[in-house]
Amino acid sequence: MELQAFLSRRVVTPDGIRPAAILVDGEKIHAVIPQDQVPRYARVCDFDEAVILPGLVDSHVHINDPGRAEWEGFETATRAAAAGGYTLLVDMPLNCLPATTTVASLEAKRAAAESRCRVDWAAWGGVVEDNQADIGALAAAGVPGFKCFLVDPGIGGFTMVTEQQLRAALPAVARTGLPLLVHAELPGPIDTASETLSSADWKSYSTYLQSRPQEAESAAIRLLLSLCREYRFRLHIVHLSASEALQELKAARAEGLAVTVETCPHYLHLTSESIRDGSTAFKCAPPIRSRENREMLWEGLKDGVIDLVATDHSPCPPEMKRFEEGNFRTAWGGISSLSMALPLMWTEASGRGFTLLDVARWMAEKPAQLAGCHMHKGKIEPGFDADFVVFDPGGEFVVSEQRLHYRHFVSPYLGERLRGVVKATYLRGKPVFVKCKFPGSPMGREFRLATANSND
Ligand SMILES: [Zn+2]
Repeated sequence: MELQAFLSRRVVTPDGIRPAAILVDGEKIHAVIPQDQVPRYARVCDFDEAVILPGLVDSHVHINDPGRAEWEGFETATRAAAAGGYTLLVDMPLNCLPATTTVASLEAKRAAAESRCRVDWAAWGGVVEDNQADIGALAAAGVPGFKCFLVDPGIGGFTMVTEQQLRAALPAVARTGLPLLVHAELPGPIDTASETLSSADWKSYSTYLQSRPQEAESAAIRLLLSLCREYRFRLHIVHLSASEALQELKAARAEGLAVTVETCPHYLHLTSESIRDGSTAFKCAPPIRSRENREMLWEGLKDGVIDLVATDHSPCPPEMKRFEEGNFRTAWGGISSLSMALPLMWTEASGRGFTLLDVARWMAEKPAQLAGCHMHKGKIEPGFDADFVVFDPGGEFVVSEQRLHYRHFVSPYLGERLRGVVKATYLRGKPVFVKCKFPGSPMGREFRLATANSND
């Protein structure tokens, strides 16, 4: 195998940011060494002032393939991922048809992904009202964990679970030792709030915001923490938006419960105060809340209650956003940000005194841990996959459709000036995104947890 050396004055390693050469043998990192020790026969790629970060891992993506590939698809989602610095996506079990709730549907997904991915991928299994018996088999087939909804996900093919149904599934989930990712909103507080809003103006963002109060998240989290205490499963709260739940999560962590928490770039960047009425590009669930709430989420990241940042990339055909109508009740809720997440995060994080070490922890190391690929992905360390992002942290650009790269160019960020430019992305030693192009044929492959564990 040819030895390659990737040089930069700023390599983001687990121990710090420093000048280094990353020696790559085939698909793996062989060593991280001082630049003057690179063997003569190595093929050198010197990025000089540009930073080398570990390839990012996105543990929350809706690829919608097979079955709703007209919404997104493996080709376009993984292309946008490569452009955004991601080298592994973990696909959510819903929006695709069939939903990933049985081994047969997982196999259908594998067939759909074959030879079409620009980056690596994995698939969460779904926990729905009636598939308790499939949980063990899905784990044996290689899913890194499971996802369920405590509220109606609003899409055909995937049901929410009631507390009773969740209780029926939890012993099987706990036996797998894999995490259960939960959309933590309870219908009760949403229904109560919505009753008073039936004749309200649904073009107004504040109506939508009132319809999904923080209490829906907090109540769900309280229920989940008590179930976690009872069943001792690994709990992961996806896309936390309600800062009022942070205290309770912090206490649960202190108590020793196995709970991890994610939030998303849109909750850390956007604020409800700046969303214009009718701007359904900003609709997602749970909703984008106030500026004050956003700052508290940043505090949560700072003190470690929030472990990681995932995109919740959730696209749809543009007509489903009902831009003409601008109605927040009927428009599809979901924000796409695979190609923009790193600049969005860096724009916000750099202004708050965080470093790229923090960003690498939130967007590579911790999501890799959640997805069980932390011995392969998420760090620049010997033995890991040679996955890198070459990043210019001082560069700026304006978000345009040409930079989005996913299937439908819908984005709440269009026209915004962001800080930090992804120059190139390398997957297992090979470039998959360079200078706005996608070289080579798709080489992304599935990360299967079961196989990874038995082989290593
Ligand atoms: Zn989602």
